[in-house]
Order: sequence, then structure tokens, then C-alpha cells
Amino acid sequence: MAELAPYAVSEANSRGRNMAEEAPCGRSEFQRDRDRIIHSGAFRRLEYKTQVFVNHEGDLFRTRLTHSIEVAQIARSIARRLRLNEDLVEAISLAHDLGHTPFGHAGQDALNTCMKEYGGFEHNLQSLRVVDLLEERYAAFDGLNLCFETREGILKHCSATNAAKLGELGERFLHNRRPSLEAQIANLADEIAYNNHDVDDGIRSGLIELDQLAAVPLVARHLHEVRAAYPDLPERRVVHETVRRMINTLVSDLIRQSERNISAQGLSTIEDVRNAPVMIAFSAEVIEQQRALKNFLHTHLYRHYRVMRMSSKAQRIISDLFAIFMQDVRLLPPPFQRQTEPERARAVADYIAGMTDRYAIREHRRIFAVEEVLA
Ligand code: MG
Repeated sequence: MAELAPYAVSEANSRGRNMAEEAPCGRSEFQRDRDRIIHSGAFRRLEYKTQVFVNHEGDLFRTRLTHSIEVAQIARSIARRLRLNEDLVEAISLAHDLGHTPFGHAGQDALNTCMKEYGGFEHNLQSLRVVDLLEERYAAFDGLNLCFETREGILKHCSATNAAKLGELGERFLHNRRPSLEAQIANLADEIAYNNHDVDDGIRSGLIELDQLAAVPLVARHLHEVRAAYPDLPERRVVHETVRRMINTLVSDLIRQSERNISAQGLSTIEDVRNAPVMIAFSAEVIEQQRALKNFLHTHLYRHYRVMRMSSKAQRIISDLFAIFMQDVRLLPPPFQRQTEPERARAVADYIAGMTDRYAIREHRRIFAVEEVLA
């Protein structure tokens, strides 16, 4: 492997872990973080959490688990080319969605509304809460005791109020500083992954059609190339070949533009990275093309009436569960029971956020369906 760039995060410049531990044997500190994430319960639950389509709608749709693995793959390719810390980007990518509620963004919005009087709910902050506190696997500490740089990468955004409570980790939001380049990569790899797999899943679901996407320049360009070169290719393979080329274009553009930014800025240390503007970026042209694709997906996929029906059902499940648990603490499993109202609200949010789609549906049925009692 090529030597790391001088401005990459390394074990030598890492700010380390909250609880000091012996150095790992035979693997790097960031490989240890990745391994802890993979062995966590929250990571396994990602398999049964919605990305856009509820897990039971079909076996081939992305879930939060396969999404996170795709993000890690894209992020590692970029990090390697830029001589940045691949193990760190992998750890951040695999952990970035650990705090997601069941039912994707509909679930997050519903839980945030329920939590309005209690400090709100934000899935990004929840991912940090999972790795810092909620995972109970180690004898010596709560959470996974990850390195500062992994935790920094997980926390993509944060309000000033929350940042003020996070100590060293929140500082950059208050003082307008940047996270590592590795964190910046994981952030954009997330965007590349979901824009492209949502095209693929959207077409597979039948909610959008490939020909509609010909109005989106980023898709159109590759679609025309594929159709011209392979006129008899079955439609499903046209989709894959088009999406494959789109990912390649985005990754190559990101690498080229970031290299330009880094050399123009003259970065030489990790401190330079934190004080510089965002360096990992697409070219202006590709930003425009991605925006057009996002707008298309918003209008035609995320707001499709069939997706909206699912979202509306999901919101009801979450707000019903929240309300009943707040009303009667005895219905909660004992580890989540709290007596004061604000503490109870946070524990209920942790409990609900930890649920998979199907667990939330089952829990709702167990509590509200009369026939469950009679059966
Ligand atoms: Mg994501």
C-alpha cells in the first residue's frame, strides 16, 4: 500500500480513545474500530432497516446494511487513490447509519416530532450515541470506545446546542472547522451510493422507468452510450451498466477535483485540513448534475404515492409507540423504564430507534391489536 499523505489521519496523529487501552496487536487502531463496529448489535440490525423500500418488499432492494457496505467500498476506493487512511474511512462508512430509526427518513421525522419537547431526535447524533453509549459489549466501558477520528466522522452535522454538550467532538461546529479528509470522503461516498442505488432500486420497484431518467443529464449521457454500444442488451443489464458508469464518473470526478483542491491549498498536516475549507468535493459541473438527479428522485421516487403510503404508516407506528410508552412506563422492557419524563422520553427514543422495521411492526401489533390478546 502506498504511504499515507502527510495530511492523512494516522495512528501517530490520532487523538486516541476516551478510555486508554493497550495498543492492538496485528491490526491498526482504525481496523480495531471497524471490527468493533461490525461485531456490534446495531450493525446487525441494519439488515432489517429500510433504506427507501421496507425490507420485506423484496429481497433485492438495498437495506441500511448493504447501503453501508456500498458506502464503505466507494469510500475506500477514493481514500486509496488520495493516499488517505482507508481503515478509517471504512470504519466511518460502516458506522454512519447505526443510529437510523426503522422506516428510513419517515421514521426519523416521526421520532423527531415526538421528541420535540425533549431535545429532538437526529439520526446522525444517534449513531454517535450508539457507539459512545448504547452498545453494551465490553466489560470496561459503555459503547465501543472508538477513536476520536472515527467518532468525528460519524457526526456529520450537529446543531450548536448539541455541539456545546459534546466537548472536543463538538468544537468544530462551534468554531467553523473541518473534520478529517477521511470524514469528508465518507460523507460524499454516502451521497454517491444512495443516488445511484436509488436509481437501480427505483427502477426495479417499477415506481420509476429508465426512459423517464433520460431527462436527467447524468443518466442520459451514460444511457445513450450504453444503448449505442449494445443495442440488443436486455433492459435490466442496461440499468446496471448505466449505473456502473455513473458511479465511475462520480468517483473519478471527486478524486480529480479533490486532488486539485488539496494541491491548490497546499495542505501539509492534519491541522491544515481542519483549518482549510472543505477539500473533498465534486467539480461544479458534477454538483449540478447530481442536483438534477436528486430532484428527480425526490419528485418521482421519494414522493411517489406508494412510498408516501408506506411513510405515513411508518409515522403512525412510531408516534403510537412513543405515545403509549410515555403514557405508561410499565409497558416498556425494564432496561428502558425511567421515572422522570425527559429521561423516559430519551430512553423511549433509544428503544424505538433501535428497532428494525419488522420489530416495530410486531411491537405495534403486540400492543395495539386486540386480536393479538384474544389469539
Ligand atoms: Mg447513509
